[in-house]
Amino acid sequence: MNMSDSERVKTLITSLGYKWTDHEEEADLLGILSCSVRQKSIDKVYSRIAKWNKWKIKKSLLTFVSACILPADKEKFIKMFDFVFPITDLHQFPDMIRQYGVASPLSVNQGNTAHESKENAFPLSLSLSHSAVRDSGLVLSEIDLFWDLPPSYDSKFEAFVPIQNGCNKYCTFCAVPYTRGREVSRSSQEILDEIQSLIAQNYKSITLLGQNVNSYGLDKKGNELSFPALLREIGKMGEKSGKDFWVYFTSPHPRDLTREVLDVIAHYKCLAKQIHLPVQSGDNDILKRMNRKHTVETYENIIADIRQILPDATLFTDIIVGFTGETEEQFKNSRLLMERIGFNMAYIAIYSPRPGAKSAQWQDDVPHSKKKERLHLLSEVLRKYSLQYNKELVGKNLAVLVSGHDRKAGYLTAYTEGRIVTRFPSDDASMIGQFVEVEIIAASELSVEAMLLSRKS
Ligand code: SF4
Repeated sequence: MNMSDSERVKTLITSLGYKWTDHEEEADLLGILSCSVRQKSIDKVYSRIAKWNKWKIKKSLLTFVSACILPADKEKFIKMFDFVFPITDLHQFPDMIRQYGVASPLSVNQGNTAHESKENAFPLSLSLSHSAVRDSGLVLSEIDLFWDLPPSYDSKFEAFVPIQNGCNKYCTFCAVPYTRGREVSRSSQEILDEIQSLIAQNYKSITLLGQNVNSYGLDKKGNELSFPALLREIGKMGEKSGKDFWVYFTSPHPRDLTREVLDVIAHYKCLAKQIHLPVQSGDNDILKRMNRKHTVETYENIIADIRQILPDATLFTDIIVGFTGETEEQFKNSRLLMERIGFNMAYIAIYSPRPGAKSAQWQDDVPHSKKKERLHLLSEVLRKYSLQYNKELVGKNLAVLVSGHDRKAGYLTAYTEGRIVTRFPSDDASMIGQFVEVEIIAASELSVEAMLLSRKS
């Protein structure tokens, strides 16, 4: 989500006349889109701003922080950064800079001072797709104005498209509902327009983003498409275009993942056969205390539906070890669930209390050494099943999307439709961003090795 947000931040900052540098110490304006999901990320924000504030003694420098900020951190950030604002206020950033008494590079080039009019401080009109709505007199929310900003995509072949922001689920370990607010769906037409434009530009991988993508449209029932209807429209656009590309979404909540969604994915070629479905625990008492609103049984029923409707789909999940009060028996239930399902990939996190989340009020009573041991045990299960699946790919010819140079010299890295990491020997950088056909020749845990057969398009 932050990567996607940063593409809109980039558009706005560039429009103010700033130029990008790869060297942090050269910059006149430095900012962070923070993430409050882990304390480690927030610790990095503190160390970075301490460094920047030392530089301020010698040079003129503006700093800002935005995105996912907890109220407790916000209080502290206000004293350290020049600007602290929710990402939905991004469109006001030019005004904030002006009111701070600083001239943006654009206004300097045009000979304006920092105190001149708002129009002069930010004369670039961004192409706002909501202008018709605005003309009709309807009031737009802050997040609508944020989504109005055209993104400066970081990649020429992979794009992230936000479809929804915020969360109403209130899992007890998570601070997102307090940092991003309640669920708000983006206009269906805007999403489809953005995807149409990406297809026209030959993008190969498009990921729909949201905290709860499959709750899409529920807050605007009757006014916007439902999530399966949105996927269906995207599927039709894929068919009509005749082009090859894969559409992913992340993350859905098990509570709202219906058979209808799976049926739509099965029907359209461009809807990738890969499901990332966070389970978080394999124990019903822990799930209840996490306020997940699904049980192990309901989760496994969805998995059974996926296996039936999308037999080739790969399965990814998120799971937490060492949640407050997690006993050996409850952890064992998570391990057994992972054994039963055999995920292709699992993002296994050691529990750490997040200030602001409900569980932070409870004792973090599982020792860190025990949490690490549990992480290790679940990683072993993951590796075993990932290897088992990957071995079944050996000898198959598959289309993969080449995503870049591999760490291993002389190799390129790619991924399959199911997002299995694939590497094959080649130095030909012109293949990056293209589909190629490979034969899988060897399997290892979490990746496969391949041999190039042919370039596709
Ligand atoms: Fe956080 Fe739960 Fe909402 Fe996901 S569903 S963003 S974990 S509160």
